[in-house]
Amino acid sequence: MLNPTTLNSILLALSAWGSAFLVALWLSLIFWTIRDIRGRTADNLLRTLAALVVAGLFLPGLVIYFILRPARTLEEEYQQSLEEESLLRAIEERQLCPGCSRQVERTWLVCPDCQTRLKKACHHCGKLMELHWNICPHCATPSPGMRKEGLTMDEALRPTPADILDEE
Ligand SMILES: [Zn+2]
Ligand SMILES: [Zn+2]
Repeated sequence: MLNPTTLNSILLALSAWGSAFLVALWLSLIFWTIRDIRGRTADNLLRTLAALVVAGLFLPGLVIYFILRPARTLEEEYQQSLEEESLLRAIEERQLCPGCSRQVERTWLVCPDCQTRLKKACHHCGKLMELHWNICPHCATPSPGMRKEGLTMDEALRPTPADILDEE
């Protein structure tokens, strides 16, 4: 049989070991939380709060942190926003014919199904332009006809200075 003194010192040693373990566990949980929250938010207040909750409440604090922490890391959030952006771009790039609502390519001048005009070509550089554009964005040539709106037939037929230069 152990005498009370030996038993006492064994218990003391055990509790000392237990406390040391708990303190080490407590510190590493705080460190882990700080590292984890850093990857999830740039907000210093939230970072401090997370560390304080775990430091103050220990294991239950960790459970609370798990429940309340931002679900995604900043890295995951960044990836997600990239994906959403490219998805949006893909949707924007898909064009539908205003005449028959079939899918058309951005480079088509006319819808092959219903022959609706989709684009016009610049009469100077030949690049594609939207139908409502009055000036070519590639070579800055005004589209013919557009600037003559509101003029009399006579004025419209008279060659513009640019036309005269072209002929010389
Ligand atoms: Zn069409
Ligand atoms: Zn042009």
